[in-house]
Amino acid sequence: MQSPASSDLQNRLALVTGAGQGIGAACAAALSRQGARVICTDLDGQRACNTALRLGASAQAFTLDVTDSAALHALAARLPPLDILVCNAGIVRNTPAEEMSDEEWDTVLGVNLGGVFKTCRAFGRRMLERGRGSIVNIGSMSGMIVNVPQPQCHYNASKAAVHHLTRSLAVEWAARGVRVNAVAPTYIVTPLLQELEKEQTQMARWMTMTPQGRMGRPEEIAEVVAFLASDAASLMTGAIVNADGGYTCL
Ligand code: NAD
Repeated sequence: MQSPASSDLQNRLALVTGAGQGIGAACAAALSRQGARVICTDLDGQRACNTALRLGASAQAFTLDVTDSAALHALAARLPPLDILVCNAGIVRNTPAEEMSDEEWDTVLGVNLGGVFKTCRAFGRRMLERGRGSIVNIGSMSGMIVNVPQPQCHYNASKAAVHHLTRSLAVEWAARGVRVNAVAPTYIVTPLLQELEKEQTQMARWMTMTPQGRMGRPEEIAEVVAFLASDAASLMTGAIVNADGGYTCL
């Protein structure tokens, strides 16, 4: 009989994208608390450094744009193979579909979908060579429902695609020891949401649509990520785990 699966992340090397603030910073902290050595990356290198400084001496920070394949491959070549990869970096814009420019569509899809694919490809290769690894992508309930009233068809489409990319990579890589899962959060109190909700007018409506009647905290998403990253989730791959206060039940 094997020993029980563990949520302990001692001696694991983890990398988080978009770790400078919000959900990414909380993921870095949760993985570090469980014992992992965490590499914090962000488009904004100073923010990544700030997160790493809060984690202590074992953490490292790098400036990294998830749309930049060359930079992703260069960093993957420079680091030892990862045990854990969290693809968290993402952006949102609010524009009615009929007014949206090609540039805005390409930018949102480029970061949210292209960035997850390119990051998984760059760091996943080294995991596959070694025959083990756990990847957690940050999707969204927006990949399952359509948020109202804000118009964000590009964001919603990108997150639905992240969920199916997660399942596709999970199936391709399962037999080679690499698990790929995603978390689908509800509204979480982060700078991204605060920017979107400057006027505080939509919040009340969103809360009536949420059985738990509240928004989430970044730490609540990070706990789910840390679980999926760990051996406690050893039978899970291709799962899209809702962390949404019941929103998608309605
Ligand atoms: P945030 O804006 O607070 O933080 C995102 C971080 O990603 C920032 O530090 C930013 O510099 C970085 N970033 C942006 N573009 C990047 C790029 N090209 N390369 C690398 N880093 C980049 O966002 P958040 O609310 O913490 O969201 C994190 C993830 O969670 C996103 O994928 C988002 O879509 C998802 N999500 C958020 C919510 C929410 O309500 N906040 C809900 C569901 C899903």
